[in-house]
Amino acid sequence: MESGLAQLLLEHSPDPLLLLASDGSISFLNAAAEDLFGYSRAQLLGTHSSLLLAEDSREPFRGAVAALAPAAPRSRRPFTGAGRRADGTEVPVEITCSLLPDGGNGPGAAARPVALSVRAGHRQDTPAGNGPGGTAADAAAPRRRNLSSPAPAAFAEPDDALRAGVLRDPLTALPNGTLFNERLAAALRRPDPVDVLLLNLDDFKNLNDMLGRSAADEMLVEVASRLRNCVRPHDTVARLGGDEFVVLLTECLNAEAVAKRIAESLYEPLRVGGSLVRPGISMGLASRTPQTLDGAELLRQADAAMTAAKTGGKNTWLRFRQEMLGTAAAKADGRAGLRQAVELGQISVHYQPVVSPGLGAVVQFEAFARWERHGRLVPPNQFLPVAEQSGLIREIGDEVMRRACAEIRPWLAGDAGYSVAVNVSGLQFQNRDFATDVLAIVASTGVDPRQLMLELTESVFFESDLDVLRQLRQLREAGVRIAMDDFGTGYASLGRLKGLPLDKVKIDRSFVAMIKTGQEQLPFFDTMINAAHSLGLRVTAEGIETAAQASYLMDRGCDSLQGYLFAKPAPASELAGTMESALTAIDKVEAGR
Ligand code: C2E
Ligand code: MG
Ligand code: MG
Repeated sequence: MESGLAQLLLEHSPDPLLLLASDGSISFLNAAAEDLFGYSRAQLLGTHSSLLLAEDSREPFRGAVAALAPAAPRSRRPFTGAGRRADGTEVPVEITCSLLPDGGNGPGAAARPVALSVRAGHRQDTPAGNGPGGTAADAAAPRRRNLSSPAPAAFAEPDDALRAGVLRDPLTALPNGTLFNERLAAALRRPDPVDVLLLNLDDFKNLNDMLGRSAADEMLVEVASRLRNCVRPHDTVARLGGDEFVVLLTECLNAEAVAKRIAESLYEPLRVGGSLVRPGISMGLASRTPQTLDGAELLRQADAAMTAAKTGGKNTWLRFRQEMLGTAAAKADGRAGLRQAVELGQISVHYQPVVSPGLGAVVQFEAFARWERHGRLVPPNQFLPVAEQSGLIREIGDEVMRRACAEIRPWLAGDAGYSVAVNVSGLQFQNRDFATDVLAIVASTGVDPRQLMLELTESVFFESDLDVLRQLRQLREAGVRIAMDDFGTGYASLGRLKGLPLDKVKIDRSFVAMIKTGQEQLPFFDTMINAAHSLGLRVTAEGIETAAQASYLMDRGCDSLQGYLFAKPAPASELAGTMESALTAIDKVEAGR
C-alpha cells in the first residue's frame, strides 16, 4: 500500500491508534486518540504513554507490552484497564498491542516500537484486568466508572462522598483541604507516626502569565499525578488550592526519603502546552512529636519550613525546626551578616570553564559569587535570596562584575577567543543606569566589552515593569553579549525568543540530567538547538557530568558545554589547573566517540 494512503487510513481510522517508540514515548496518534483522551497531538508527542493510563493500570500495561515477543507480536487478548484523560477523568479501555518490525534499534522486543489500538469501554465477555500483567486483585476490583459517568476519579478513593465529588478538587481529582484535615485529625487520633509535607510551586504566576490558564491547569494535573506516584496508596495527597499541595504520610518510617523522592520526581521536566517546563517546588516537612497539639499546629510547622525553603533559594525542601518560627529574627541576622560580608570584602568569585568541543578549547569562564563565612563557602542559592530581599544584590552584583573583569582580564587580554560570563539578577535592572554602570566597570578594568557576557534567567526578559530590554540593547550596542540562563526551567517558549536582544541560550542542567545512557530519544534537544540556531543564537548545555551527556549534545550540534565533567568552579588562582582538567576531559570525550 502507498505510504500516503496508509497514513490517511491511520489518521482517519475511527479507532484511536497510537504508536509508541521503544522507550514508551508516544510517536504518533490519530484524531480519534486525541478525541478519546482529550489531549492535543502537540501535548502528547514525545510524552510517555503512561500519562494516558490511570495509575493502577500503568504497571500491568507495562507487563502487557513486555510480554510481546517477535514470535507472538500481538497480544492474544486485549489489555483491559483504566485510561486517564486530560481532565483527570478515567475511562475503561481495551488496548490491543502489536510489536512492530525492528526499527533498527537492535534486537529484542524492548527495542521495538509498539502499535496500540484502543477501544473505550470493556466488552461484556472480557473480564476486567485480564492483561498479561493483570492480577487476580485487578480482576476482582470493582469497576465503578464507565464512559457515561466520568466522575473525576483519577485516584481511587473508597469514600462515597468523594465519588460525589464534594471533597475533591475538581481539577486534579485529588482530595481537597476539608478532606485532608479530616484525615489528618483521624491519623493523629492513632498512635502511629504522622508526617505532613506541604508543597508550593515556585513562580507559578509566571506560568499562568506566560503559557495561559489551560497550560497551568495541565501542569497542576501532572504534578498531582507525580505526587501520587511517590506515595503509598493509603497516604493522602491533597490540593489545598492554587499551586499548593499537601501530603499526609501515616505509619511512614522515612518521611525524608519520600520528600526526596518527590523532589526528584518533580525535577524531571514535564510537557505542558507544547513546551517542556520544570516547575520549581519548595517543600516543608513536619512530623508529629509527643508535644504536637493538633493538625493545625503540624500544618503551621510545615508552612514555616516551606517558607524557609522558599526564602533559602527555592526549589528545595526543609524539615521543620523550632527556630524557623522566629524567621524574622533569623533573616535580620542573615542580612546583617551579609551586609558586613560585602563591607569586609568576603564575597569572592569562583570560575568554571565553558568548553567548545568543536574547537577543542576553553572559550569562556563563568563567574559565580561565593560568600566566605566562618571559614566555609556559602553557596549563592543560600545568600542571593537574602541579598535580593534586602537590596544588597546591587552591591554584590557590582562587586562580582568588578572582580570577574579584573581577575580574568589577564586571560582575556592574552586571547580574544576567551570571554567571561557574569550572572545578573533581574533586580539589578531596577537601577536605570545599570547598563551604563556595567560599561563603566568594563572600561575601568580595561576589558573589551565584546569579551563580556551577561547571563539572565528567562523571566527577567519578560518583566514588563523594568526597562530591561532597553538596557540590554544599550549593552549589546557596546559589544556586550547576552545569554538566557537555565533555559526551559521557566516558562519561555522557543517562539518567544524571537526578537529578544539575545546571543545565547543555556540549556538547564535538569534537561541534561535526562540523558542517562546516551541511547535515549529526547527529541526536544534537537528542537531546542535547531530553533536557537535558526534564530542565530548559540547554545551551551550546563551541568554536563558524564561523557555520554557530552557526546549526546555534541552529536546534536550544541555549541559549547559546561559542567563538573570538565571542571568544577574554582578561584581565579586555580584557573590554570582548571583549564588543564577541562582540556583533558574534552580529549577523553573525543577519544571515546
Ligand atoms: P547558574 O548560573 O545556572 O550556574 C550553574 C550552577 O550549577 C552553579 O552553581 C554551578 O556551580 C553548578 N554546576 C556547574 N556544573 C555543574 C555540574 O556538572 N553538576 C552540578 N550538579 N552543578 C553544576 P552555583 O555556583 O551554586 O550557582 C547557582 C546559581 O546562583 C547560578 O546558576 C546563578 O543563577 C546564581 N548565581 C551564582 N552567582 C551569581 C552572581 O554573581 N549573581 C547572580 N545574580 N546570580 C548568581
Ligand atoms: Mg549562569
Ligand atoms: Mg544555569
